[in-house]
Amino acid sequence: MTYAKGPYDLGHDCHSWLLPEGRWGESNTGLVRGSGSSLLIDTLYDLPHTAEMLAAYKPLLQGHPIRTLVNTHSDGDHWFGNQLVAGPGVEIVATRAAAELMTPSSVSEMVAMSGRDDHVGDFIRQVGGHFDHAGIVATPPTRTFTDELSLDVGGREVRLIQVGPAHTPGDLLVHVPDAQVVYTGDILFIGGAPLVWAGPISRCIAACDLILDLELVAIVPGHGPLTDKTGVARVRDYLDFVHAESVERFEQGLTVEDAVASIDMSLFADMSEQGRIAANVLNVYQELDPTRPRENRLQQFGRIADFELHAAATAQDAVNR
Ligand SMILES: [Zn+2]
Repeated sequence: MTYAKGPYDLGHDCHSWLLPEGRWGESNTGLVRGSGSSLLIDTLYDLPHTAEMLAAYKPLLQGHPIRTLVNTHSDGDHWFGNQLVAGPGVEIVATRAAAELMTPSSVSEMVAMSGRDDHVGDFIRQVGGHFDHAGIVATPPTRTFTDELSLDVGGREVRLIQVGPAHTPGDLLVHVPDAQVVYTGDILFIGGAPLVWAGPISRCIAACDLILDLELVAIVPGHGPLTDKTGVARVRDYLDFVHAESVERFEQGLTVEDAVASIDMSLFADMSEQGRIAANVLNVYQELDPTRPRENRLQQFGRIADFELHAAATAQDAVNR
């Protein structure tokens, strides 16, 4: 899916910065301008990409400086650039559950993962090699909340709605009622497959339903191009399908690996990052069997890397034959 890098004017002084192609680490940000101040939604995965995004927004910020930064969740591609926005007079807001994970060790763990001498490291370097994690200083939220928080941005209401645990433990949606715009964070990947790190998957479906119930003229996903309710419904369909197929295989006694290998995903073959199915099926198995040990991010990522590397090898075999 080809689309241009931002910024995009969504109307009513709402904007977004899209980072094509919306794949691993390539996330979007948002800007809501009020009278005399602005609110920024998310920073990017590294300092160069964040600096480029801020420079593009700069003309919009004359007389309306960023006073609030909202991080939609705790994944690095949505907050590792925070230090370029932080400062006196800037509040950084996230859910309490997200903030608990936005620590210096989460930065060093991510950097260490990309340096690993194994298939996970190989995969991360392959998909994220164009990011430069030098110089990142963990810059966490200064204000947290649970459930809902209404902010005044230069006379405009901006609603933060906690929908996590879903994609991660502390996801939130940013809803701007007077503009009928929502910034969804990684509740929505458009073009790529959905990804349920935390779950349960029903919470991701509920978050889609919440978006579908809003009056909207623009929907900014966490990754990928701007979308509409058809795009949201397709994400919901994927989640629903994977849930049903996983439950069936769990009840038949299949292992997670056999379940992943046997689900026919051809209905969703147009989505990139097909390997996320491995983490999504695991998530359903964990929900159905609470005694099953929870896997950490490295283990979940390892399953995705296994799937993607195997799929790439199979495709290469087909070319060679
Ligand atoms: Zn993301």
